[in-house]
Amino acid sequence: MEYAAAKSSICRQCGRSFSPFAPKPGLKLRTREEAPPPESSSIRGRFEDFWKRQRSSIIECFECKRKQQVSGAATSTICPACSAHIDLRDYKITSGFSRTIRTRGDVHLTSRGDLGSSSVVCRSALIEGRLRGNLHCDTATINYSGKIPGRISARHIIVDRKADIHCFRSVRAESVEIRGRMSGEIVAQTMVMIHKRGSLEGDVTARAITVEKGGMFSGQLVIGQVGLTQGELLQEQEPAAATGSESNFPETAPRPLPAT
Ligand SMILES: [Zn+2]
Ligand SMILES: [Zn+2]
Repeated sequence: MEYAAAKSSICRQCGRSFSPFAPKPGLKLRTREEAPPPESSSIRGRFEDFWKRQRSSIIECFECKRKQQVSGAATSTICPACSAHIDLRDYKITSGFSRTIRTRGDVHLTSRGDLGSSSVVCRSALIEGRLRGNLHCDTATINYSGKIPGRISARHIIVDRKADIHCFRSVRAESVEIRGRMSGEIVAQTMVMIHKRGSLEGDVTARAITVEKGGMFSGQLVIGQVGLTQGELLQEQEPAAATGSESNFPETAPRPLPAT
């Protein structure tokens, strides 16, 4: 029974995987159907996932960032460096839920779920229901129609095909992929991609934006490095220009290292 809470990241309703470490499609996961747990047993992972229990993953402490390896079957661990408790459970939200979530597992907010927690921190998040608080995760897949009042930040954000969202606060990510509809501001460290039939209405700050044929973008675009003001960018470029003009060998001229 301990394994009823085993980590899982495949939506039971639509069968889609939302883990960044999703199993290859060739792997058969059918065996887990042999002993299905009761439908409403838990908000945590609801079925045994043999594949996932077999593998381990590297997770980072929320407090001191120390990394450690944990088994796929573990539901929590203690940081070896600072002794902080680290939740590893997956959360599946199918109704109202308002406790704070901070897990290295995944969160699936189903279409009937209403997540009122002020803060949700997790590995990957699949958002199909109402999200009212802030979300911070590795990969966020949003397949929801409606208003999103909280802050969303993630490494990678996917606004899925059927999504139609209005984000009140700027969405922050390394990269954002728009396959559905979104209105709101995006601040991306690298790139924003608007796919065919995707549409984005709102201002974008990113290093690059790509709009596929059939995609729509309306808003202001600032191409630049996130976190640097215009003044800082100019200061950066001045020394490079000076050395370039004085040297006949620009290839060997010392160049300032890019700011990180
Ligand atoms: Zn689903
Ligand atoms: Zn720690």
